[in-house]
Amino acid sequence: MTVDGTHDPALRSWVVSANEADTDFPIQNLPFGRLRRAGSSDAWRIGVAIGDQVLDLHAALAQGQWSAELAALLQPLARGELKSLMAAGASARRPLRAALSDALRAGSSQRDALAACLLPQAQCELTLPCAIGDYTDFYTGIHHATAVGKMFRPDNPLLPNYDWVPIGYHGRSSSIVPSGNAIRRPNGQAKGPSASAPVFGPSERLDYEVELGFLIGPGNELGTPIPIAQAEGHLFGVTLFNDWSARDIQPWEYQPLGPFLSKNFGTTISPWVVTLEALAPFRAPLQRPAGRPDPLPYLHSENNRAHGAFDIQLETWLQTAAMREEGAAAVRIATSSAAEAGFWTAAQLIAHHACGGCNLQPGDLLGSGTLSGPAPEQAGSMLELSAGGKKAIRLPNGEERTFLRDGDTLTLRAYCERAGARRIGFGECSGTVLPAVS
Ligand code: CA
Repeated sequence: MTVDGTHDPALRSWVVSANEADTDFPIQNLPFGRLRRAGSSDAWRIGVAIGDQVLDLHAALAQGQWSAELAALLQPLARGELKSLMAAGASARRPLRAALSDALRAGSSQRDALAACLLPQAQCELTLPCAIGDYTDFYTGIHHATAVGKMFRPDNPLLPNYDWVPIGYHGRSSSIVPSGNAIRRPNGQAKGPSASAPVFGPSERLDYEVELGFLIGPGNELGTPIPIAQAEGHLFGVTLFNDWSARDIQPWEYQPLGPFLSKNFGTTISPWVVTLEALAPFRAPLQRPAGRPDPLPYLHSENNRAHGAFDIQLETWLQTAAMREEGAAAVRIATSSAAEAGFWTAAQLIAHHACGGCNLQPGDLLGSGTLSGPAPEQAGSMLELSAGGKKAIRLPNGEERTFLRDGDTLTLRAYCERAGARRIGFGECSGTVLPAVS
C-alpha cells in the first residue's frame, strides 16, 4: 500500500472539472465503471471517471498511445469486461493506473487524442461494474450491532461470538442493482410481538443500511485458505452499498438460519469502483473499543492492525416525494466514519471467508455490514435513527419518518479527506422506493 506520484495532491488534469475542489473524481482517484451512452444500444465498455467526464476506454484504446503491455490490459476493458483486470491483481492495476494518470495529467502529449474519448457523465448510463458473483454480507459495524442487539436483547446486546467471529451470511447477488434503479417495497410475512399468527403484506418497516462493498480481485483455489498477510492482494476495490432491509419481515424469519427475504428484494451498489491503490493515502488503524479481546492469530497481522481500515466518511441523504415536488433538495440525515465503525477490516473478512478453504472469485462481493458510529446522528439505518420506530425523525418541510415511505429517494455518498492528500469521493449510491406489488 504505497503512496506514489499518482497520489501527488498537486497533480492537475487537462480535464478542467477534475481540478475542482469538490469533485469526487480528481486525477488522484481514477475509479472504474461500466457504461455506455444513455439511450444508445452501444456495447458496454469500461470507463474511468475524471471530473464530470468519463474516459471511455473503448475509444481510448483506439485513439491513445499505449505500450503492448498496456494495450493487452485495455483490450478486455474496451469490451466492457472488468474481471480480467480484477483477476490480474495489483501488478496489473498499478502500471495501468500510472499510465492513465500520465495520460490525463496537465501537459500530457495524449491530450488531443484522448479529449475525443471523453463522455460527459451526465450523458452516460452506468450499470453494474461487473457481473457480481457470490455475495456475502458481514456485520462489522459494532455500534450498529450493539444498538440493534439492545432492541432485541436489552440485557445481552452483543452475542459472545461477536468478539471472535466476523459474523456474516451468504446473500443473493441476482438482486444487486446499480445506483439509480428503483427498489420495490417487498411483500412478506411479519408477526407483531403480541400477534398470535403472522400476516402477509407489504413491509411497513422498510429500511436502508449504509455499507461498503468490497469487490474481490484475484481468487483462491478451493481448499486453499488466504493468509491474512495476503488478503488485501485479493481485494480489487471499494464501492458504496445499500442493503435495503425489511425490519418487520427480518425478526420473524431470521432465527435460526439468518436473514432471508428481508434482505433479498434489492441491494444497491454505487457504479464506480475506487481501487485499493486510490485509497492508499487514506488507510487507518483498526479501531476497537477498549476491553475487546485480540483476534485469533489467523485474523491478525501487525500491518492489518496498523493500516487495515479505510478512512472513509459516509453520508446518508433523503429526499421524499413531497420534497421532490416542492423542488426541495435532499437532506443529509446521518454521517459516520468507516474507520470508526468497523470492528473487522476487509482483509480480516477475506481471510475469515477463506479460512476453511472456501474459494473466492473475481467479482465476488463482500458487504461490510452497517457502518454506524457511536452517536445517534451517526446511525447507518432508520431502525437506529428512529430508535426502533419509536421516535420519528423530522425533515425540514415538516414531514416525519420512522421508516421509508413510497417515493422516498435514499442516497449514500462518501469521501476520503486527509491533510497532505487530494480529497477523493465515491459518487452516489441511490434508489427510490416504489409501492409494493398489490
Ligand atoms: Ca447488511
